[in-house]
Amino acid sequence: METTEGKLWFNGEMIEQPDAKVHVLTHSLHYGMAVFEGVRAYQTDEGRTAIFRLDDHTERLLGSAKIFQLDVPYDKATLDQAQKDVVKQNGFDSAYLRPLIWVGAEKLGLSSRDNSINAMVAAWKWGAYLGEEGIQKGIRVKTSSYTHHMTNITMCKAKAASNYPVSIMANQEVTRNGYDEAILMDPQGYVCQGSGENLFLVKNGELHTPDLAGGALDGITRRTIIQFAEDLGIKVIERRITRDEFYLADEVFMTGTAAEVTPIREYDDRTIGNGGRGEITEKLQTLYFDVVHGRNEEYMHWLSFVDE
Ligand code: PMP
Repeated sequence: METTEGKLWFNGEMIEQPDAKVHVLTHSLHYGMAVFEGVRAYQTDEGRTAIFRLDDHTERLLGSAKIFQLDVPYDKATLDQAQKDVVKQNGFDSAYLRPLIWVGAEKLGLSSRDNSINAMVAAWKWGAYLGEEGIQKGIRVKTSSYTHHMTNITMCKAKAASNYPVSIMANQEVTRNGYDEAILMDPQGYVCQGSGENLFLVKNGELHTPDLAGGALDGITRRTIIQFAEDLGIKVIERRITRDEFYLADEVFMTGTAAEVTPIREYDDRTIGNGGRGEITEKLQTLYFDVVHGRNEEYMHWLSFVDE
């Protein structure tokens, strides 16, 4: 992963990364008031590069900004084009994209009113977030001792920088002990999500996922998997789920733009199902990779080609 080279889009201009500087008194750096996205572009089999569900990501970005009352001076079309341009101008065939909106350095009182609102889009090459082996064979996850935040403590619908320290602490806590990823429980003690992923379990051929009332992010990969399952005739149930239900599941997997569809083979030191990638997980994962690589006509509307 190399994030320090190439061009990025910075407040309307395409500039070299070393020139993309912010003041050390940037409001967002002190108080965490920033919103962002994680987006992926994939090379399709015909050779062209397409951003997956660009429209939905930009919409969520602007929604996050609205929640925090950040008055973004760029419209959706501009931000969509910026993301395409960053991929194109860096000559990437595939990439991870990071749009960010933040509050400027004009003054440092808590109120961000009258400060500038800034935007940038960067991109870099990023392989499988939880490892290629994880995609094939599954990963080992552990419940964190940190509780996930809840609505009214922070805004759970927003993909906000300020929501992430708990995810980072949870991830560090378990990875230091040899696990691959952390699971956070919601304040009521039900399973919420991974540090940067949504969760699913398969039981008796049905798909269950924690409902969003528990505070999990409304993940775009989560929405994609729910749509796939419905289209394949697999029943989807969104509800509160306990950790021991996960222990007894036939299959468990996590989803995210970075994590894509990653099977979970071990959950709190219990082997899940057959201890590898389950059948339904593999079916949904294969469909996901087919769709993002433009191999499935039915879902072509989710691809935005960067050269268009
Ligand atoms: N939850 C959290 C906390 C995340 O950071 C992410 C990654 N954006 C997800 C879930 C998955 O969301 P998406 O599928 O939209 O990437």
